[in-house]
Amino acid sequence: YDDRDGYIWMDGKLVEWRGANVHILTHALHYASAVFEGERCYNGKIFKSTEHSERLRTSGELLDMPLPYSVEEINAAKEAVLKANNLTDAYVRAIAWRGAGEDMGVASKRNPIRLAVACWSWGNYYGDAKMKGAKLDIAKWKRPSPETIPHAAKAAGLYMICTMSKHAAEAKGCSDAMMFDYRGYVAEATGANIFFVKDGEVHTPIPDAILNGITRQTVIGMLRDMQIKVHERRIEASELEGFEQCFLTGTAAEVTPVGQIGDYNFEVGDLTKRISTEYEKLVRA
Ligand code: PMP
Repeated sequence: YDDRDGYIWMDGKLVEWRGANVHILTHALHYASAVFEGERCYNGKIFKSTEHSERLRTSGELLDMPLPYSVEEINAAKEAVLKANNLTDAYVRAIAWRGAGEDMGVASKRNPIRLAVACWSWGNYYGDAKMKGAKLDIAKWKRPSPETIPHAAKAAGLYMICTMSKHAAEAKGCSDAMMFDYRGYVAEATGANIFFVKDGEVHTPIPDAILNGITRQTVIGMLRDMQIKVHERRIEASELEGFEQCFLTGTAAEVTPVGQIGDYNFEVGDLTKRISTEYEKLVRA
C-alpha cells in the first residue's frame, strides 16, 4: 500500500502518497499510542462521517491523547483527501498518533499528536462471502476486560490479538475469526460486530467488551424500524448451536452473512439477506 500514486492528508497538508512517512522513533510505533477510523464513501458522501470523527476524538481522549483537531476539521480533511484522489466510492482511513519528539519512553506528553487521512478503493471485505456466507474460525484470543483496556476506543493496541486471530483463521481456510470475551461470552469478529437470528428475532452481544460499531448501531435501528425484535444480551458459547442465521456488521464488512463458525452451520436466510440489501440502500440514499 505504500508504493502508489495519490495524496495523503497529513497534519493539515496534502502530501505525495509515497512520501507520507514518519520517523522510526514515533511513539505510536513503540507503544501503540494510535487511534483510527475506517469509513466508507458512497456516491461522493461519507456514511456517518461526523459519527466517525466524534469516535476518533473520543478514542483519543480514552488514550490520554486528545486530538488537536475539531470534528469539523477532521470532516474537512476527509473531504479534501477524497477530492485530491478523485474518489467518490472509497474506504477512508483516518489515524491519529503520538509522534516522535522530545520523549522516547513510555511517557510521551511532550511529543506531538498527529493526524493523517488516506483513502483508496476497497471492494467487499469478505469477497464472495456476501452470497455464500463467510466461514469463521474460533479465535483462541479473548477480548479483554474493560478494566484491562479502554475497549470503547478504536485503538491500534487492541488489534494485536485480532491480527493473530485472523492469521490463524486464514491458515485454516477461514475468512475471519469469532472471538469470545474474557468471561467466555460471544464478542465479535476481528473487525466486525456479530448478530444471530432465531425464530425471527435478532440477538447480539452487549457492547461492554467490544467496539460498539457504528454499523452495529445503524443495523439495530433499521431492525427496530422493521418491527424486528433485537435482544442486546450476553450470549453463551452453548447457544451457537441453536441459532439459525448469523451475520457480521462493520464499515468494511457492511452486512456480511456467516455460513459457518467452527463446527456450527448457519443458513444465509431471508432476514439476513433483507438487512444486507436495506443497508446497501441506506448507505447510498
Ligand atoms: N469491531 C471491531 C473490532 C472493528 O474493528 C470494527 C470496524 N471498525 C467493528 C467492530 C465495526 O465497527 P464499525 O461498524 O464502526 O465500522
